Amino acid sequence: MSCLFCQIINKEKPSEIVFENEKVIVIKDINPKALVHLLIIPKKHIVSVNEVEPEDRELVGDLILIAQKIAEEKNLAGYKLLFNVGRKGGQIIDHLHLHLLANK
Ligand code: 5GP
Ligand code: ZN
Repeated sequence: MSCLFCQIINKEKPSEIVFENEKVIVIKDINPKALVHLLIIPKKHIVSVNEVEPEDRELVGDLILIAQKIAEEKNLAGYKLLFNVGRKGGQIIDHLHLHLLANK
């Protein structure tokens, strides 16, 4: 059985999609902790930052460039980018995702 974010990526589970390209999907967090709370998710199933390989360098860079683009489009005055890593680091879903949080 595939993970929750893989199901969202495969459109087997609904989500509010903000952006999508071949390699990345951006969705609204179901339980927002800020006015704007987005999850920037690579379509490749990588468990966490701890499992990122050198070959994922460009993909991980894309997550930041997409965050920058969305922040610009949404005219965000400032924002936070966050990776929770591992259970003890607050990670609940074992599929890499970058949180984008902003209060406008
Ligand atoms: P983590 O704690 O793993 O870094 O973050 C997981 C995030 O996914 C949480 O902020 C949580 O609210 C969000 N989330 C959990 N289930 C769903 C879901 O089914 N849909 C969406 N859009 N977000 C979810
Ligand atoms: Zn997955």
